[in-house]
Amino acid sequence: MHSLLISDLHLDPSRPEISRQFFSFLANDATQASELYILGDLFESWIGDDDPDPGKQRVVKALHQLTDGGTPCYFIEGNRDFLTGNVFEARSGCQRLEDPSVVDLHGTGVLLTHGDYLCTDDVDYQRFRTMVRDPLWQQHFLERSAEHRLAMVQQARDASRIETSGKPAEIMDVNQSAVEQAFRDHGVRTMIHGHTHRPGIHHFLVDGQPSTRIVLGDWHREGSVLRWDEEGFRLLRLPR
Ligand code: MN
Repeated sequence: MHSLLISDLHLDPSRPEISRQFFSFLANDATQASELYILGDLFESWIGDDDPDPGKQRVVKALHQLTDGGTPCYFIEGNRDFLTGNVFEARSGCQRLEDPSVVDLHGTGVLLTHGDYLCTDDVDYQRFRTMVRDPLWQQHFLERSAEHRLAMVQQARDASRIETSGKPAEIMDVNQSAVEQAFRDHGVRTMIHGHTHRPGIHHFLVDGQPSTRIVLGDWHREGSVLRWDEEGFRLLRLPR
């Protein structure tokens, strides 16, 4: 059996073709796997578990069909969908994991993360991240009406688009020192993350130990999935 790992689908009503591909992936590829890991930004936005968007509820239902059918699904929040809560967990059947988490993939200890916490060169973003990850901030946000939250999310997206368009690309990638520290902190030799939309496999030494960082791709033009079994891993592209 094999595990599948995906991230950064950014499901949104404006991109129905990604949702269609994801539904087909869940009904076919994912049911053949021993488990599915979603490493954040499954949704382009998530204003709370009472999000009224019917498209998102369809996704939650499809996840529930998968988990109900006996394929466990693990979910790490991204910077777009960090407000998924217990209701999402119950309705989707997905089990949320802390970011980062170490899991065992066919005998290898692997650090899983969305990856945004490693982008330490982007100081403005890290400040924003600290603010919105504060439980008190989240409590206040969730107390507002759905309309108000939707407007706030839209405003944040517009602001981020303007801000990131003026930033050099390397600032928005992971910081190598932060990556190496994560390997040390968690005692692993392999890390898998998304967020940067720069699919690739990076080999380097951390304190003399061969280490590997695998980056999942986004689903904007095609699917991206990491397949991991006893033989090892392969980063695959799923044509649409
Ligand atoms: Mn992200």
